[in-house]
Amino acid sequence: MSNQARSTTMPSADFDAIIIGAGFGGMYMTHKLRDELGMSVQSYDKDGDIGGTWFSNRYPGILSDTESFYYCYSFDKELLQEWTWKNRYVNQEEILEYLEHFADRYEIRKSYQFDTKVTSAIFNEITNLWDIETNKGDKVTAQHLVTGLGLLSATNIPNFKGRETFKGQQFHTANWPHEGVDFSGKRVGVIGTGSTGTQFITSTAPLAGHLTVFQRSPQYTVPIGNGPISEEFSNDIKANYDASWKQIKGSMVAFGFEESTVPAAGLPVEETDKVFEAAWQSGGGFRFMFETFSDIAVDAGANEAACTFIRKKISEIVNDPETAEKLKPYDLYAKRPLCDSGYYATYNRDNVTLVDVKAHPIIEITPKGVLTEEGEHELDILVYATGFDSVDGNYTKIDIRGRDGLQMKDKWEHAPTSYVGVASSGFPNFHMILGPNGPFTNLPPSIEVQVEWISDLIKDMRDKGQATAEPTQEAETGWTTTCKDIADATLFSKAESWIFGTNIPGRESSVQFYLAGLGSYTDVLNEEAASGYKNFTFKLTSEL
Ligand SMILES: Cc1cc2nc3c(=O)[nH]c(=O)nc-3n(C[C@H](O)[C@H](O)[C@H](O)COP(=O)(O)OP(=O)(O)OC[C@H]3O[C@@H](n4cnc5c(N)ncnc54)[C@H](O)[C@@H]3O)c2cc1C
Repeated sequence: MSNQARSTTMPSADFDAIIIGAGFGGMYMTHKLRDELGMSVQSYDKDGDIGGTWFSNRYPGILSDTESFYYCYSFDKELLQEWTWKNRYVNQEEILEYLEHFADRYEIRKSYQFDTKVTSAIFNEITNLWDIETNKGDKVTAQHLVTGLGLLSATNIPNFKGRETFKGQQFHTANWPHEGVDFSGKRVGVIGTGSTGTQFITSTAPLAGHLTVFQRSPQYTVPIGNGPISEEFSNDIKANYDASWKQIKGSMVAFGFEESTVPAAGLPVEETDKVFEAAWQSGGGFRFMFETFSDIAVDAGANEAACTFIRKKISEIVNDPETAEKLKPYDLYAKRPLCDSGYYATYNRDNVTLVDVKAHPIIEITPKGVLTEEGEHELDILVYATGFDSVDGNYTKIDIRGRDGLQMKDKWEHAPTSYVGVASSGFPNFHMILGPNGPFTNLPPSIEVQVEWISDLIKDMRDKGQATAEPTQEAETGWTTTCKDIADATLFSKAESWIFGTNIPGRESSVQFYLAGLGSYTDVLNEEAASGYKNFTFKLTSEL
């Protein structure tokens, strides 16, 4: 436990706030509450240091799909000017270096206890405080609990029979050994071809003796267009940061480009292909989906125009027609858009084999490798690029209980819900960063918006002598309906992906994001604050 002064708003509390997570979200919250509001804060992370996503994901090829200069904090203008990004997209080392610089700048680590997993958080209705316990034996109380647990953080490994029998090495991409893995001359297998899988496959193929890719879902992916940033380009970005961040915070996906207002529906294929070709040449997944045309995510015809273009590219790039066919998706282009550094061309290498496990499912992992309905693939190393139990995965691993002993995992049994992505009815002073039904965007700008809003709420409560705040159930139900209605008006809700939780076998499809964009989301938050938090109920400290 850190040794800071323990003067708290609620006299019997050990801390004003407990913060869980040392990623972008938890670190900014720690700075906000501790340094700006002068609160006593104790922060925890189960990892050994700061970084969150960028501490644990170290697999070869890892890259952001947000341009580096917008994948960062924007609140500190000096830091924006001081920090120079090396490449257009950011690899794990560079982003961790940036986050470490941020942590040093604000002396973030002095508030953290690392290698410490929060195991339970129980709201005590007698003291009106959160009782927190960790796996290291800490038992502490706080008025506020802030969770920055990450929405792509709890790893997902499908329950393949025989996993423990495999005699070679096996890894999940999000728990990558810090010392790296030697692939030279090895028979490597990888299960999963999502964002992580495509990155891993493209960069490991040249390193491995042989790479076998077990593909469940073929992917639409476009070139990323990565490369070093020139000094001139960097200076330009820095000179325009004020205007760019204003645009980002008012935009839909917050990726730093103007989203198109031109629909593709009804345009001749020569015209749509011209626009797609230009986007293909310049790179970027979100750019391809949202900067080219305005209706790819909402209109089936426009969507098919993009799909047809990408399928044509696959035919052009991949030499073997049979492999090309296996790589072609025929479903909607309505998942988080992927981008890559030569993914489809990787299948032209002699040392890469594509195995279609939708047609011939994996039966089990054997001591020697992977047995599918077609036969056994012998391997030395098996990599699970099987993604995450997204959004609520880390929440249901903690025993979180609100009023009347209600457990979060029971409340969320069918689907995780929230009020405006940050609060939960029946869970007083429980503040989520990137909770369910928050915006679907480049995440650091959304994290900033949420952290600042939560911090304002906490300050307002302190100024008014309020002990607890919680949203009404009615408001939460209304928000869930809003998010569902918006999602249903898009094609995203018609595709299977982690955005709706359906990457986890047996899980019902449920809305997990607010798909109307960061600008309109921020308007909702601002209206809530301006109304004096009309959808919240409060208890005054003097009433306790
Ligand atoms: C490979 C990869 C690439 C990505 N690229 C992009 C990108 O280009 N653009 C983008 O916008 N987003 C990207 N993301 C999403 C990324 O997770 C977010 O951008 C951002 O890093 C989230 O920050 P966070 O602080 O919310 O959560 P995280 O960084 O996930 O941090 C959560 C922290 O909470 C800790 N924690 C969880 N449970 C407990 C517990 N019980 N006790 C203690 N500690 C706990 C974890 O150890 C972790 O350190 C990517 C994700 C991955 C996995």
